[in-house]
Amino acid sequence: MTGWRVASMTDKLSPGMRQYLEMKKIHPEAILLFRMGDFYEMFFEDAVKASGLLDIALTSRSKKDEVPIPMCGVPHQAVDAYIDRLTECGLTVAVCEQVEKASAGRGLLDRAITRLETPGVKISASGQTPRQPNFVVALSCDDDGRSWGLAGLEVSTGDMVMGSFDSLDGLRAELSALSPHECLLKESPPEELLELTREMNIYATLLPPEKMSPAAALAGFTELFGPHAVAAWAMESRPEALTAAGAALSYAVACCQGQLKHLAPPRLLWRLPYMGLDEAAIANLELLKTLRHGELDGSLLGLLDRTITPMGGRLLRQWLVRPLLNGGDITNRHGAVEELLRNGLARDEIVRLLKKTGDLERALGRLVLNRGGPRDLAVLRDTLTLLDDFRRVLSGLNSARLAALGDGLPDFSEMTAVLRKSLVDNPPLNAKDGGLIKRGVSAELDELMDLESGGKSGIAALEARERERTGINSLKIGFNRVYGYYLEVTKTNLPLVPNDWIRKQTIAGGERFLTPELKEWEEKILHAGERRLELEEKILDDLKAMAVGRAGDIKTAAQLLSEIDILAAFSDCAERYRWVRPELTDEDLIDIKGGRHPVVEASLPADTPFVANDVRLTTRDRIFIITGPNMAGKSTILRQTALIVLMNQVGSFVPAESARLSMRDRIFTRVGASDDLARGRSTFMVEMNETASILAMASPSSLVVLDEVGRGTSTYDGISLAWAIAEYLHDLDGRGVPTLFATHYHELVDLSKTKPRVKNFNVAVQSAGKHIVFMRKLKEGGASRSHGLTVAAMAGLPKRVIDRAREILSDLSKAGRR
Ligand code: ATP
Repeated sequence: MTGWRVASMTDKLSPGMRQYLEMKKIHPEAILLFRMGDFYEMFFEDAVKASGLLDIALTSRSKKDEVPIPMCGVPHQAVDAYIDRLTECGLTVAVCEQVEKASAGRGLLDRAITRLETPGVKISASGQTPRQPNFVVALSCDDDGRSWGLAGLEVSTGDMVMGSFDSLDGLRAELSALSPHECLLKESPPEELLELTREMNIYATLLPPEKMSPAAALAGFTELFGPHAVAAWAMESRPEALTAAGAALSYAVACCQGQLKHLAPPRLLWRLPYMGLDEAAIANLELLKTLRHGELDGSLLGLLDRTITPMGGRLLRQWLVRPLLNGGDITNRHGAVEELLRNGLARDEIVRLLKKTGDLERALGRLVLNRGGPRDLAVLRDTLTLLDDFRRVLSGLNSARLAALGDGLPDFSEMTAVLRKSLVDNPPLNAKDGGLIKRGVSAELDELMDLESGGKSGIAALEARERERTGINSLKIGFNRVYGYYLEVTKTNLPLVPNDWIRKQTIAGGERFLTPELKEWEEKILHAGERRLELEEKILDDLKAMAVGRAGDIKTAAQLLSEIDILAAFSDCAERYRWVRPELTDEDLIDIKGGRHPVVEASLPADTPFVANDVRLTTRDRIFIITGPNMAGKSTILRQTALIVLMNQVGSFVPAESARLSMRDRIFTRVGASDDLARGRSTFMVEMNETASILAMASPSSLVVLDEVGRGTSTYDGISLAWAIAEYLHDLDGRGVPTLFATHYHELVDLSKTKPRVKNFNVAVQSAGKHIVFMRKLKEGGASRSHGLTVAAMAGLPKRVIDRAREILSDLSKAGRR
């Protein structure tokens, strides 16, 4: 506020502005939205900044003053949309409300900050993307700077995860999975962490050191969950993870003013038996978004997400980046998908129910955070009422998982009966509009409703009587908030107005009048109406408290319904795209017959069939060296194999004629060459960083997919590196790691002469004059030649360049350099 020399002006400021400054002091870093009547106003620098970002008029308060105060405002009905725009720009917004009712003769109203919204903590419905979680994460590191702690908290659903990592790569992978918008760090954070947030486009918020300590974390969690619940997991948590979790918690508590009753104890990442996927695998396999444009369309999620509810969509994102490692759980998911595929009637019934299912998690989140309205209760009522139907359908099925999902649904019959009895079928958005509660819930409310409707009939009778008495046929009784009820008479009829009417207001086409009787009715109606609204709000509060009291069960129901939704979506995909159930085997095997790339296949024009391919990686055929011209389809085979392995462990059916697969602990990918200038790494450096982490972490139970390693440097350096890397993977632990290695270095074909578990393949093409025809078929043996010049010619390079290239190639070959 420096620009306005506030200190020197304070004594000249109105009491309202002084109150504003008091509020601003509480959160000086935030844009303060200060409620004044029907508007939220911003002042001083906040106004200058926000008016620009929101594209709204910047005016000034007390224009006559020497230094007028800049000001801008937004209407209260639309405030959430404006808050979202500010938080999307990385700002924190503090909302200051009037906490007492305005009444005649009352000067300055009490005000308080009721919530903070930030890029990572969004409470309003409009700020949330239905199918995406909005995590705020906290990161910390231990004193030696060798291990890293992470906690992620999704305020709208109450989800929390925490983990600790010995490498920044692990941290980065988890950040990719959570895709947070905001990251909390301790003041003066280590440069690596700051860089990580910059690199990943996450807004960083710095917290004072006292908010980031294991002790503060324990105190916060103990208050929320009680000492016993906390002891169970706090004991095994590393201090840096606990610190991060405590920071996320205290931040969320501050933003939401302490009401986080829906928060579940954190999921401990180190306890979760999931397949390891690093940032490169999530990105390269295009699990959540495409590599090139970052779009959902064209990613695996874009294809697989045939879920019906937003809750199912959000859970599916998590499933895709956390494939399972437990064979029993995977088989259970496959079994459920299979049954829903075979039993179309049951699936249709489930889909019909899912279509009526609302977003339980977020409706509950808003209620818990005191931002919920009558419609959130209606979502709970309507969705929880469906649970009996879900249970009925699921209990008739054989799949163990579906039966367990049905059995796990908690019983809400009492609560839904109360909600059905109390809440009107289609309540208004805003409780203040009234008309929420049904008759028969409270005798007093019924009486007030009668009084109001009696008053309204009294007014109707009065209107008829006065029309008759005066002969003014067009006479109407109207109402508005400022003037209350009035008799309205057009200009032509004014001579007919009787003497006992009292003139109230002149309008364009006539005059408005009162009578004492009308005034009496008005008072009755307004008094009853006001009291009715109060009572309705009180009853609504009781209903909300009842729902919040079952927060844990509602969350359970939400999770189970999300899972049902995903399993139904998987079976829908299996049917739509002709996917098959993979067979899990204990043999060390990846045996795919007729495998297809799910996304490429779906994107091909109807008249272009996808060419299916077999891939059989065994303990004997461990390393595939795949050669073939550009555009032949090498990358596609690599990625489809990785995707089929991943989809199997997610529990989905797979795009193949058949697949026998053993469990893979990790999938590693090194695909394509791209500069990462944001991280200050060249193409070659990125390539080598990724390869280094693969070689450090891969085991014989992993799957490695390498697309062109060693291309970012000189040919001979590249070939030598690629050769040595392939040998290393071949020899690892005496068993080798199943690896698909696509390369343009035909020299690598000779590896098979010395390494028994190496097998050569090529993706076939046929020469047709100056052109080649892509057969897309994976065949045994190395490619005879690379066809690079032919593909370049087909791509439109000038003939002169191609001809000259042929000459050079021939010279190089003669000189024995290729
Ligand atoms: P480069 O060496 O230039 O990277 P590549 O051999 O890896 O090329 P891909 O990127 O896998 O080739 O495939 C190129 C295009 O060919 C794909 O985008 C897809 O449209 C098509 N394609 C690949 N495989 C198949 C297939 N099996 N059936 C049908 N079309 C395919």
